[in-house]
Amino acid sequence: MADPKIYRASTTAPVNIAVIKYSRSPSFAQLIHYRDTDCQTYRYWGKRDPRLNLPTNSSLSVTLSQRDLRTHTTASCSSTYAGPDSLLLNGADQSLETPRSIACLKSLRSLRAELEANNTSLPTLSTLPLRIVSKNNFPTAAGLASSAAGFAALIRAIANLYELPQPPEDLSLIARQGSGSACRSLLGGYVAWDVGHADDGSDSKARIVASKEHWPEMRALILVVSAEKKAVSSTAGMQATVATSELFKARVQVVPGRMKEMEDAIKRKDFAKFARLTMKDSNNFHACCLDTEPPIRYTNDVSWAAMQVVEDMNKTSSEGDVAAYTFDAGPNAVIYYTTDNRSVVEGRFDGVLTGKEGWVSSGNGLKREPNHADETLRNGISRVIMTSVGDGPVNIQDHLINEKGEASESTT
Ligand code: ADP
Repeated sequence: MADPKIYRASTTAPVNIAVIKYSRSPSFAQLIHYRDTDCQTYRYWGKRDPRLNLPTNSSLSVTLSQRDLRTHTTASCSSTYAGPDSLLLNGADQSLETPRSIACLKSLRSLRAELEANNTSLPTLSTLPLRIVSKNNFPTAAGLASSAAGFAALIRAIANLYELPQPPEDLSLIARQGSGSACRSLLGGYVAWDVGHADDGSDSKARIVASKEHWPEMRALILVVSAEKKAVSSTAGMQATVATSELFKARVQVVPGRMKEMEDAIKRKDFAKFARLTMKDSNNFHACCLDTEPPIRYTNDVSWAAMQVVEDMNKTSSEGDVAAYTFDAGPNAVIYYTTDNRSVVEGRFDGVLTGKEGWVSSGNGLKREPNHADETLRNGISRVIMTSVGDGPVNIQDHLINEKGEASESTT
């Protein structure tokens, strides 16, 4: 008789926000265009299969605390499930029939099948339909990196379910195929994603640069300008930039040096250096977006007001560079600072952000007349998230699927 057991495993996974941004290699269609129009570029990008979701350059991010932003995912499998594999995300069915999800599930199943082949006493979970339930405690597809936390949680939960022995660095090869930045969310602290050189992408994976404990003072203030769903998907935007921007070719040349400097700044806990590199890389990335045909603009006036406040603060502070802004593929600002300068940075925003959801006042208030940038921020920011550097995924016993295999509420 078939084993009727419901096998379950749950995890939480974090968001990460890059301080050195990555872009995705071109699609097949773009590669064909390159082959016909620009042989040199084709030779450069064309050697690696676009289906592997390989980056054009190495990147580096800070993993953010799951106290504030997290995905909670339960993976389960059972012979009693009718199939096909299913994912319930925030209460709505989400297709797993996408090339990215198919690639991830296939890789995880084949690792489990290897274990089963080597140990015939193991239940053959690799052949059973999967039922997955996931919840993000923050807006999905709105520029807050839900894809990173979401795919990292999916991979981690299934790897736990299958009891895979691979370290997170190896699982990052699988997560990368779901969403590039997800590979960095499998680890905590300060995490690099190395571009790698192998044609099969086997060395393009995540690596810890420094643990959270090495530099626990790092804070992130997220100014949520918009929690609307994005109009252009990040992947399509990135690929268009890589395919058409002249500036991007220069960017790819400078990033390796910048990566080394950033790793060094993190190892030495040199915030001023970290801040300059973070802002320079964000500005360089967005300049390439504007140089795309047709141009892409992710930031808006509110984002620019945030930049202005940070630039002014850095210029006038007696401590030097005390804060660093960075923007992903959307208008939301992420401002990094350390607890050493908390009163300067949070004090600068106090009064401007008072009353916004998520803002915890340092009690200083605004001690001057608000300027134009302050007013723009006050009117344009819908919500604030105050968080810090955090750990990688955490295995938990709080399941979103009950013992009967039905979706259930979290017990916490
Ligand atoms: P974001 O800026 O939030 O990363 P994207 O549009 O890049 O937005 O990615 C959103 C997509 O990521 C969703 O449509 C979904 O496919 C995937 N995703 C988000 N959260 C989860 C999750 N918890 N589990 C699985 N996939 C998820």
